[in-house]
Amino acid sequence: MYDFKRVEKKWQSRWEKSREFQAKENKKNKFYLLEMLPYPSGYGLHMGHARNYVIGDVLARYKRMNGYNVLYPMAYDSFGLPAENAAIKEKIHPKKYTENSIKNFIRQQKSLGLSYDWSRSFATHKKEYYRWDQWIFLQFLKNNLAYRKKALVNYCPKCDTVLANEQVIQGKCWRHSDINVEIKELEQWFFRTTKYAEELLNNIDNLEWPRTVKDMQKNWIGESEGTLVNFRLKDTNEIIPVFTTRPDTLYGVTFLVFSPEHSKVLELVKGTKYEREVRNFIQKTIIENKYYREDKEGLFIGKYAVNPLNSEEIPVYIANFVLLEYGTGVVMSVPAHDQRDYEFAKRHVLKIKQVIEGDIKDCAYEGEGNLINSGKFNGMNSRDAINKITEYLKRNKLGRKTTQYKLRDWLISRQRYWGCPIPIIYCDRCGIVPVPEKNLPVVLPEKVNFRKGNPLATSRKFVNVKCPKCKGKARRETDTMDTFVDSSWYLMRYCDPKNNKKLFDKKNINYWMPVDIYIGGREHSTGHLIYFRFFTKVFRDLKLLNFDEPALRLFNQGDVNKNNIRMSKSKGNIVDPMEMVNQYGADSLRFYLMFVSSPDSVLEWDDSGISSSYNFVNKIYSLKSIKYESSQKDRIIQSKINSLIGTVTFAIENFEYNKALIAIMEFTNYFYKNASLVSRDVFDDVYKKLLTLLHPFIPHITSELKCNNQWPKVNNKLIDKEIEFTEEFVQSVINDINEIKKLTGISPRKIKLFVSDSWKYDFFKQLKKEDSKDFNYLIKKYMIKEYSKEIVSIIKSVLKNPRRIPEFILTQEKEYNMLNDYKYLFEKEFNVSIEIIKGSEKAYPGKVAIVLEK
Ligand SMILES: [Zn+2]
Ligand SMILES: [Zn+2]
Repeated sequence: MYDFKRVEKKWQSRWEKSREFQAKENKKNKFYLLEMLPYPSGYGLHMGHARNYVIGDVLARYKRMNGYNVLYPMAYDSFGLPAENAAIKEKIHPKKYTENSIKNFIRQQKSLGLSYDWSRSFATHKKEYYRWDQWIFLQFLKNNLAYRKKALVNYCPKCDTVLANEQVIQGKCWRHSDINVEIKELEQWFFRTTKYAEELLNNIDNLEWPRTVKDMQKNWIGESEGTLVNFRLKDTNEIIPVFTTRPDTLYGVTFLVFSPEHSKVLELVKGTKYEREVRNFIQKTIIENKYYREDKEGLFIGKYAVNPLNSEEIPVYIANFVLLEYGTGVVMSVPAHDQRDYEFAKRHVLKIKQVIEGDIKDCAYEGEGNLINSGKFNGMNSRDAINKITEYLKRNKLGRKTTQYKLRDWLISRQRYWGCPIPIIYCDRCGIVPVPEKNLPVVLPEKVNFRKGNPLATSRKFVNVKCPKCKGKARRETDTMDTFVDSSWYLMRYCDPKNNKKLFDKKNINYWMPVDIYIGGREHSTGHLIYFRFFTKVFRDLKLLNFDEPALRLFNQGDVNKNNIRMSKSKGNIVDPMEMVNQYGADSLRFYLMFVSSPDSVLEWDDSGISSSYNFVNKIYSLKSIKYESSQKDRIIQSKINSLIGTVTFAIENFEYNKALIAIMEFTNYFYKNASLVSRDVFDDVYKKLLTLLHPFIPHITSELKCNNQWPKVNNKLIDKEIEFTEEFVQSVINDINEIKKLTGISPRKIKLFVSDSWKYDFFKQLKKEDSKDFNYLIKKYMIKEYSKEIVSIIKSVLKNPRRIPEFILTQEKEYNMLNDYKYLFEKEFNVSIEIIKGSEKAYPGKVAIVLEK
């Protein structure tokens, strides 16, 4: 047993002092390895974090050992609601709360021995960072990528803030599963993500990301081809664009339906007798889960629209089955040819007008066919009509062909304090005035009142400001930015974290970016992982950088479970990583986390597992005091260690760390058993290689035992599968003899060992290469008349169990000589005379026949 506490402290402080993980731009091949920006919760690291970071650290250390210039940084996503809420609850300032949490986080991360370049670390709540959020906002504004619009927003009364769509889960607040989300109409700031929808969609397939994440993004962006049809609101010139994939049914439209969340709806009913009822309906719909609104409920809103083709007047409804994300958020209803519309029409006693031939007696006819009741398009089939009607609409400026996306613009305004202030000033005379770049940062004031609403609005010093244009009285925007803005470009800041003149230097960013591998959880498949792609594309178009995608490869690590449930405070199944570090050491925890399951699958925590990892680490340590007896295993150990280097290298490159460690463990057990039978030089060399292979996983103890800094190379000349096989062969003979002795109860005077008939060696070699499993074919191909009976039975048995063919097939001569070489060993083991004989029907290559003589 060694003193892991002393050893781990020693190496952690040595790494810190020597700054050996600091990355510098140079001529070497770069490797940018990134883990998702953590939110520094007051609870500190949980086991999921620990696993995530060790996965990254193993690769970082491995890449450095392979000569790469590795950038492996860490920072903190320190703005956001939880700090504000926790601060309100515990009555400490969010800043103090956050900074304490960060300190704690860093201490815990360091105690795991993670090899971050700490010199590049930052926290997003610092003005040195968020001034660049503000600068970015101003560039977006200048380039028409940021705009303000009145919008219905999801609002949680408990958070007292607007929520993004992805923060609404089944109609409830993502942080308060008991609070129904309400709607509110507010002027909000948006980023124009939709401008990049097409590129965001098209580039996905070039990325080496997990298929599920790519599919989720595709679905989120949601492209569909169709026709935009301009309906007119009756008695006005107002146009309502409607998206459809079936313009051939346009003559059959009998009503229009708005999504209840559509911002136009409230405007249309304002001051009418419908207003109150409509408001209630909207509220109720939003509370229901967006995607599982079972009852198709709707409401007439007192307006009519005009069909552009036949000028028919049709009533306008809102209904819960129309999603804002689909098309324009308004659909044209054709009950004769759409089952959902059909049911709705029956329920609300609306007209059903057939325009495609087919049976509509009991349900809608949704297929294609020839047009009827469609004016000059009568008789045309659906396919032609889709094109002809779209062309007609276009010619008459009544519509056009279009591609629609489900993706919406990004609402970035938050009515909260603990975030980056939006650099905007409102002046009664000049309107919306951006804060001049030279006046950045707009600093978040510390003295505010947390008791109600948005605390930022309570700071008069902050709110009251001179207009930069007219110098008159004006007031600041009190909304802060969604924290996803901070995390959309943090990965670029790492490339030039101290720059106070620019967002980052172009040279540095083009050297390090794009990220070579990005490690994080699946929960970010849509939000963050779309936003950071969007920012990259905007930055490229603003000429800040010259690549298209931020991260080439994405790796999702699996969850950490206990008792088959994901570890979480609310489930009460937490294991604190720091307790494990105290009890067993960081190396044992790291080894355990990487050994139990492959990085991408679920890890089921098992308390006894960590103690066997601890025993393994100690075994590695105890190898250093081995006593030498002989050198008989030199060749085989050298062969095995070289095979191991190949296996471990391949496994790490393919994120199969557990396979690497299983192979290492097997080797170590063998090495440990046979270490005294290896000469000193070979032992030292093999031990050093073993430590080096283990270094990325358990860096403290291996540094203490003086591993190499460079990853070992496989020496193929030393790999001798035959000699490895020999040992297994000899061991299997010993096992078999013991087995037979036990079964028969014979204590022999003499043991005869028969090696196989010589023809079987070639025969087995041929069978080994054979792909066919067809008995008749094999018999025909490999039949040798003199051994026909034996051949039939061998082929039968091999087909049934292919493992009957050994991994290595020697020759009769070699097996015979091998057994003779080890004759002394058998005689010693069994204390009888041994005779070795060539040729036996009962023996096979790799399997001797044994006769015990009394
Ligand atoms: Zn809430
Ligand atoms: Zn002004």
